[in-house]
Amino acid sequence: MACEGNRTVFAGKAVSGGIAVGRIRFLRSRESGAPRVTVEDTEAEIARFEQAKESVKRELSGLYEKALAELGEAGAAIFEVHRMLLDDLNFVEAVTERIEREKLNAEAAVATTRDQFCGMFEAMDNAYMRARAADVKDIGSQVIAKLEETAGRQTAHGSGRTEVTERSAGEQAVCDDEKNSAIETAEESVGESPVCADSEPVILVADELSPSEAVRLDRKRVLAIVTRRGSVNSHTAILVRAMGLPALTGVEFGEGIALDGRMGIVDGYEGLFLSDPDEKTLEEYRARQERARERAKRLEELKDQETVTKGGRRIRLCANIGGTEDADTALADGAEGIGLFRSEFLYLGADDLPTEEEQFEAYRAVAEKMAGREVIIRTLDLGSDKNLRCLQLPHEENPALGCRGIRLCLERTELFRTQLRAILRAAYYGNVAVMYPMIISVDEVRRAKALVEETRAELDEEGIPYGEVRQGIMVETPAAVWLSRELAREVDFFSIGTNDLTQYMLAVDRQDPRADAFGDPHHPAVLGAVRAVVENAHQEGIWAGICGELAADTTLTEEFLRMGADELSVVPAHILAVRAAVRACPL
Ligand code: PEP
Ligand code: MG
Repeated sequence: MACEGNRTVFAGKAVSGGIAVGRIRFLRSRESGAPRVTVEDTEAEIARFEQAKESVKRELSGLYEKALAELGEAGAAIFEVHRMLLDDLNFVEAVTERIEREKLNAEAAVATTRDQFCGMFEAMDNAYMRARAADVKDIGSQVIAKLEETAGRQTAHGSGRTEVTERSAGEQAVCDDEKNSAIETAEESVGESPVCADSEPVILVADELSPSEAVRLDRKRVLAIVTRRGSVNSHTAILVRAMGLPALTGVEFGEGIALDGRMGIVDGYEGLFLSDPDEKTLEEYRARQERARERAKRLEELKDQETVTKGGRRIRLCANIGGTEDADTALADGAEGIGLFRSEFLYLGADDLPTEEEQFEAYRAVAEKMAGREVIIRTLDLGSDKNLRCLQLPHEENPALGCRGIRLCLERTELFRTQLRAILRAAYYGNVAVMYPMIISVDEVRRAKALVEETRAELDEEGIPYGEVRQGIMVETPAAVWLSRELAREVDFFSIGTNDLTQYMLAVDRQDPRADAFGDPHHPAVLGAVRAVVENAHQEGIWAGICGELAADTTLTEEFLRMGADELSVVPAHILAVRAAVRACPL
């Protein structure tokens, strides 16, 4: 950090290029509104929560009867909804888990969970679901009030609760789930900020952002993202890059709340974050922003141009997407196909497992939008930092080396079969391929293919239309590199995932910001692996592309072309820059 006059300059790691100038909004965990107390007897605390919940439910039943008599069914329905929400297993489990894991008093556990659920509801697309946020707020507050009432009574009679420490709001431990409340704060901050009365977009500053939080941000209301913690190859970073927003991580910005509402600048090229810039600096950055816009405009001229080198060598330039809307951006940016559809991104914020129908609709929408261009749907790559709450994956000491990707799908075959059905059905409406992540053996590929066969037979039997899909794998583990010749005989294509390949080849945790320095994706071992995989693929007559973040590194474009890569797949925001790099290649 450097102070120059009023302005403060913080350095960080660039996650995504670009320049943003605007007001800063700090995302903090919403204050619970209930004091946080550490409890020793967590069982007793859970019992208090259960009692308060049941008591509120009884009151709601009474209110339902009263409203039914006075207002009729329509007027009473809301109390039934509230009662059902109180029985929601996810809510109840989240509260009890907090009490158990954090030794938190029930009031604070309910308040934090309430805020988290409100945030999730408010961020949903569906207006009906958004409106449920107010209901959650309401019932959560009723349970807290009930708990406070009983706490008062118990204190009067000796509660038996051991209050060990009182933590101030500023010292609140931030656990994974708790951060979700930041989304609501984000939504609130961005939408209703007193500073941004016109809902002008803001520079979001946060301690940390999870992939599910990032996926729910409204990109139209965000100018740039700055986080204190995070690594440049995490899935959060990938999502943020896909949004095309300037972003930094690893920025030690001090007390975040002190920055709230101030003017800020994010320089995603130089990895700088400035607060309180003086007029001269603002002017300088606005001018740079303008130049960047002009550059982007010039690149737009390449939108409908071919991805071909000066010497006439072609390479397919595709987009990495995480949702149906991204397909529009991909097309607008001139993508020649979808090289990687991270299907799990569709559901990161969801509370329930996606149904076959929901998945089918999403895949079909993308296949139709892409109108004949190939869409490669990667099967669920869950586990590690990507979790579905509803899956309740067991805790793993080392999740990056745990049951993620294809391992989870082959373990939870019901999950996998549902997705395969949806993919095959969507293939009827477009040019669809399926790709398996985290492969380490021929056996895994064969098992996945056998399940595809069974799914086809099932759909045949049911008379449901489906299309043919080509099947490929992500080459993103050293084992897959080593076995690439054998694997190539099993599949139609390879797509090299350099993010995980770098992680696993160099033994560098992509989630660990301290390890960023060791995770050089230009390491000769990584580039050598890419070359070997492409060669082996060609020897066996299949194509090989690159869909990790390295594919967008224009300093390597020529090298990838020399290696013979057949496809590069990058976030839509990088397509035109890569096309320019290919077109500038002398090859
Ligand atoms: C990769 O590992 O390079 C990749 C593209 O997959 P993900 O980043 O989703 O793990
Ligand atoms: Mg990967």
